[in-house]
Amino acid sequence: MKIYPIPAFGDNYLWLAVHEGHALAVDPGDAAPIAAMLERHALKLDAILVTHHHSDHIDGIGELAERYGARVFGPADERIALIDEHVTEGSRIELPQLGCSFRVLEVPGHTRSHIAWYGSDTLFCGDTLFAAGCGRLFEGSPEQMWHSLSRIASLPLHTQIYCAHEYTEGNLRFALAVEPDNQALIARIRRVAQLRAAGRPSVPFALADELATNPFLRVREPAIIRRASEHAGRALPGAVDVFAALREWKNSF
Ligand SMILES: [Zn+2]
Repeated sequence: MKIYPIPAFGDNYLWLAVHEGHALAVDPGDAAPIAAMLERHALKLDAILVTHHHSDHIDGIGELAERYGARVFGPADERIALIDEHVTEGSRIELPQLGCSFRVLEVPGHTRSHIAWYGSDTLFCGDTLFAAGCGRLFEGSPEQMWHSLSRIASLPLHTQIYCAHEYTEGNLRFALAVEPDNQALIARIRRVAQLRAAGRPSVPFALADELATNPFLRVREPAIIRRASEHAGRALPGAVDVFAALREWKNSF
């Protein structure tokens, strides 16, 4: 299975996974660029996976499903029409034509019904985890988001993470403000700058890189606790408090 980014709306990535003439789309917020790729390579679209209800993730579903007969899998949420099969925590879907299967993780926080898709050392996580950052808390509490991110953080280190936006350089600037002495972070900033200067995506990325550089996954690091506490002007006794303070700080960064 090879996975291609399809840029859309300025900073979104729609993902198309391809295997022997068959394809799977993840969060098709726009049908046109996906249809163009399917036509160009004579691919059959078998399935559509959805992570959450925001329009930049779902607005292409109707057209693609109708035109290609793809089966649509997603969370039960009245704001997402056209789902053929609702999934919940632990659901497993088999996609034999694509030679893969995926397991569902419920990861509320960005939205209340947000899910992630995990299989073949690959995670499609929508707007939950970003490279060096995380999604905004539109409908969830810091506790929920922290729990969701912790679940992602416990996947195998080599997991390749496919998030839905190219927010990496901005996220890295914030990460550096939080952790100016983190050498792994400084090295990553250089790598990402080279990729972006060459017009290449900074996504996917390995979970191991996130654990070394993403402040939102590193809230137990003493240096981060100290910085977050200084910035918030109060003691932050637990991981969730540090996470919440970082998220607040980033909102106005
Ligand atoms: Zn979203």
